[in-house]
Amino acid sequence: MTSGYFLSFSEYLKKIFGEKVYKVTLDAGFSCPNRDGSLSFDGCIFCDDSGSFSRLYSNNLSLSEQLSVGMHKIQDRYHAKKFLAYFQAYSNTYKPLSELKEIYDQVFVENIVGMSIGTRPDCVDEQKLDLISSYNINNRFIQIEYGIQSIHDKTLKLINRGHDFQCFQEACQKSKERNLKVCAHVILGLPNETHDDMLETAKTLASMNIDGIKIHMLAVMEGTKIHEMYNENKINLMSEDEYISTVCDFLELLPPDMIIQRLAGNGKREFRIQPRWLGKKLELVGKIEKEFQKRGSKQGSKY
Ligand code: SF4
Repeated sequence: MTSGYFLSFSEYLKKIFGEKVYKVTLDAGFSCPNRDGSLSFDGCIFCDDSGSFSRLYSNNLSLSEQLSVGMHKIQDRYHAKKFLAYFQAYSNTYKPLSELKEIYDQVFVENIVGMSIGTRPDCVDEQKLDLISSYNINNRFIQIEYGIQSIHDKTLKLINRGHDFQCFQEACQKSKERNLKVCAHVILGLPNETHDDMLETAKTLASMNIDGIKIHMLAVMEGTKIHEMYNENKINLMSEDEYISTVCDFLELLPPDMIIQRLAGNGKREFRIQPRWLGKKLELVGKIEKEFQKRGSKQGSKY
């Protein structure tokens, strides 16, 4: 679907591969240094124990089974022919190099046209990035996704990220030097962040030669630190109107060719305490487009 208001991921992939490309989400049994005690046992304050995994498939399946089941389901439903392997759960570069190679090697079966790896900027090094870029052949789409959430170190400290913005800048630079696509994850509405803070994040990311972005609203998931803060009335959550308006302000500041890979959080509905207004993602995207229409603006209008 072409919105005309922003460059969606599906639109981008369709242009590159000549047809719709479907993501198959994978859980390859990774952990995260911010949860296993290497940095902390607490994790980021918004993270629930799924490590941001949408839990589409059973974690008991092997990687190749997850891939095969995932591809077949999508094939049956949409007659899909091309797929992107998406390593989503936890930090998908957080293992020794030899194990990473074994894992990534498994996904390049027939009809897989690319791979996207979600991780933390402090979980990559030169060798791991060299390995990932070695898959960047045969016109594949090879992307690394870094959680950053905000460019402000005061916020990164508050949300217990365990790394600073400079770490993200260095990881992006090393990734771009290897011709990898880079996608940044951002959360709008983090505690103590002002509207200007969020727009500063947009402006800074816009200046960094980043290829894509995933934008989420702050969600209160059951059992997280942010859930405690919410119960103690220590956080203010955005209303739907505030979120829509902030997303539009944010997108206006980004380059027109930055790929917008998500505009709403994932998080399983049954574990989500707030926001209650979040219904179907497509409906929210429709409301964002309406806001752009009302403003007479679009992604990149103020870049
Ligand atoms: S880095 Fe990701 S998986 Fe690790 S605690 Fe933070 S959100 Fe969770």
